[in-house]
Amino acid sequence: TPGLYLVATPIGNLGDITLRAVDILKRCDGVACEDTRVTGKLMKHLGISKPLWRYDDHSEHRDRERLVESMRERAVALVTDAGTPMISDPGYRLVNDCRREGIPVTSLPGACAAVVGLTLSGLPNDRFLFAGFLPSKEKARKDTLQELAAIDATLVFYETGPRLLKSLAALKEVMPEREIAVARELTKLHEECRRGLADGLMAYYDANPPKGEIVLLVGPPDEEVPSDADADAMLREALET
Ligand code: SAM
Repeated sequence: TPGLYLVATPIGNLGDITLRAVDILKRCDGVACEDTRVTGKLMKHLGISKPLWRYDDHSEHRDRERLVESMRERAVALVTDAGTPMISDPGYRLVNDCRREGIPVTSLPGACAAVVGLTLSGLPNDRFLFAGFLPSKEKARKDTLQELAAIDATLVFYETGPRLLKSLAALKEVMPEREIAVARELTKLHEECRRGLADGLMAYYDANPPKGEIVLLVGPPDEEVPSDADADAMLREALET
């Protein structure tokens, strides 16, 4: 049926495409994608041939309007280069426009690096905050970390190899005591998840420059352990009532 289908694709291991994703890619009228070469390769691997249209949220307003209009008659799949559309990837404007125009939207779940990193890290996951990429300018990066430091949750960032050391340096300054996980090359042959404090991880990755894609996770602030005096006061209070 016509409408927009958000299709998650693998983040490394091609086995992570879902049966439902393959089914929709086979049945849709065309695929809107970030990079036609990247998606072309995936389609070839799946043995599916469909028209591919380049789309990102910076595409001209008119192009987006035309695409949305076409969805009244056509089933359009949206994919990005890897993972779940819109998670630090294009798609938001398209979905927003479809909602406004009354075009049906269906989201097909699948791989998302943030979730894989979170589950693999062993850091608390009852509360987490996904914060995307840190700003590339030093001052903005530190300001962002300072703003996030007080939040009682595991923080999840997207990162790249060449920038990891800079982010760890900023973390060392702003949150030196927080447990960190560096999750790299997820679902791929050289998948790795390394835990430690910013200081130790900096020393390690300084000696072993990290390659590939990275999810950087920061555990929540330590729960305050009541001091002996606090505990005594609490006990007295409890006994008095
Ligand atoms: N939409 C994607 C998703 O659902 O995960 C994320 C796209 S974002 C442009 C790319 C970033 O995702 C990378 O810089 C990295 O932080 C993370 N990422 C993607 N694939 C990864 C992988 N296999 N291992 C670790 N991180 C990955």
